[in-house]
Amino acid sequence: MALFTRRRALVGLGTLGAGLLGARCALPRWLRHGPPRALEGEVARAVERCFVDVDRAKLWDLHVHLVGRGVGTRAFVGHELTSPLSPWKNFQYDLYAAAAGFSTDPSTPDAAYLERLLALHRLANPQGKLVLLAFDQLVDDEGREVPDHSELFTPNEYVLEVARTNPDVVAGASVHPYRKDAIERLTRALDAGARAVKWLPNAMGIDPRDARCVPFYRVLAERKVPLITHTGEEQAVDAREAQALGNPARLWPAIDAGVTVVASHVATTGACLDEQRTLEASHGAAGPSCFAALRDMLRDPRTEGRLYADISAITQVNRAGAFLAEILADPALHERLVNGSDYPLPAIDPLVSTRYLERIGLLSTADRLLCNEVFRCNPLLFDYVLKRKVRALVGGEERRFAPRVFETAWLFSQVGA
Ligand SMILES: [Zn+2]
Repeated sequence: MALFTRRRALVGLGTLGAGLLGARCALPRWLRHGPPRALEGEVARAVERCFVDVDRAKLWDLHVHLVGRGVGTRAFVGHELTSPLSPWKNFQYDLYAAAAGFSTDPSTPDAAYLERLLALHRLANPQGKLVLLAFDQLVDDEGREVPDHSELFTPNEYVLEVARTNPDVVAGASVHPYRKDAIERLTRALDAGARAVKWLPNAMGIDPRDARCVPFYRVLAERKVPLITHTGEEQAVDAREAQALGNPARLWPAIDAGVTVVASHVATTGACLDEQRTLEASHGAAGPSCFAALRDMLRDPRTEGRLYADISAITQVNRAGAFLAEILADPALHERLVNGSDYPLPAIDPLVSTRYLERIGLLSTADRLLCNEVFRCNPLLFDYVLKRKVRALVGGEERRFAPRVFETAWLFSQVGA
């Protein structure tokens, strides 16, 4: 009897194992998109209407990731994501890669991802531009890069080269301020045409309050180059102390130095302690949301003309439920918002759920169906259409993102001036 039960249990486990293995292999395939396609008929006409109130040439998507595996470039994806020794991260990576049209086949050149992205952009809005972001490595306290613990690496030279050969691409450099040659690298990238700098403090190990950032801020302020930096928690990072680096309050030294700062994702994830008061007193407590911390800063007159927030990723399931309605309902906040897609993330189906947005009252049924149709043909355009369609109902009145939120070209017009 015992043996029978054990055998049954083993068969059960075996079936479960096979099921999991099947899902492990099938899910990435299921998320893969077909080639970029032009919209047709009523869907095309409905999408066209999403552009009538904006100047298409001013639509710059300021948050687009260029990634590569080092096939024809010096880019890489971190070990933790690619190694089967970290099965969960490796699985996530396979899902993301499949949805992003990012081949994990060792012989596919990095250029394949770029070509797909450019095709999506040119089908969506060829008059606009993509701000393609480089991604620097994790750098330790001694100023040495740590490739083994870096999430990604996309060298500045790669985005600069793409921008040189594609007039609809603008290069965003990424330089870690703790590097011994940080200023030299920064200056070199700006001289070569970079028009923004990107940081992800939580993953790269950057404390924006660190004294080593001061000369860096001086260059950005002088050359009027916006600093696009992640705020809030970062899912890909495990360490709790590293999450504190995404606290928007740490950006005060940059703002005080006169840098134009773009706080990515409107800090819509995580709890951020008020570090100005006391760190230890609130130890263990959840603390106020990072979003509330950033909103307070945006309302502070000292940040006028200096601090902005990008709305990339805020339609994702983990962010939309918490803050999207509040953001949509606040027209004063819209003055400080700028649009970015965080591509390839909008291409990853489970991250954004139009059904969920409909359920929480931010999307109509007709608009949900339209967005789903657009997603099938062009996930980059889907991000734009969805953000034009989401709305909060305030006293019977519909509130949407103001058209100027999408016309972000002005942010880069001062660079080098
Ligand atoms: Zn991003």
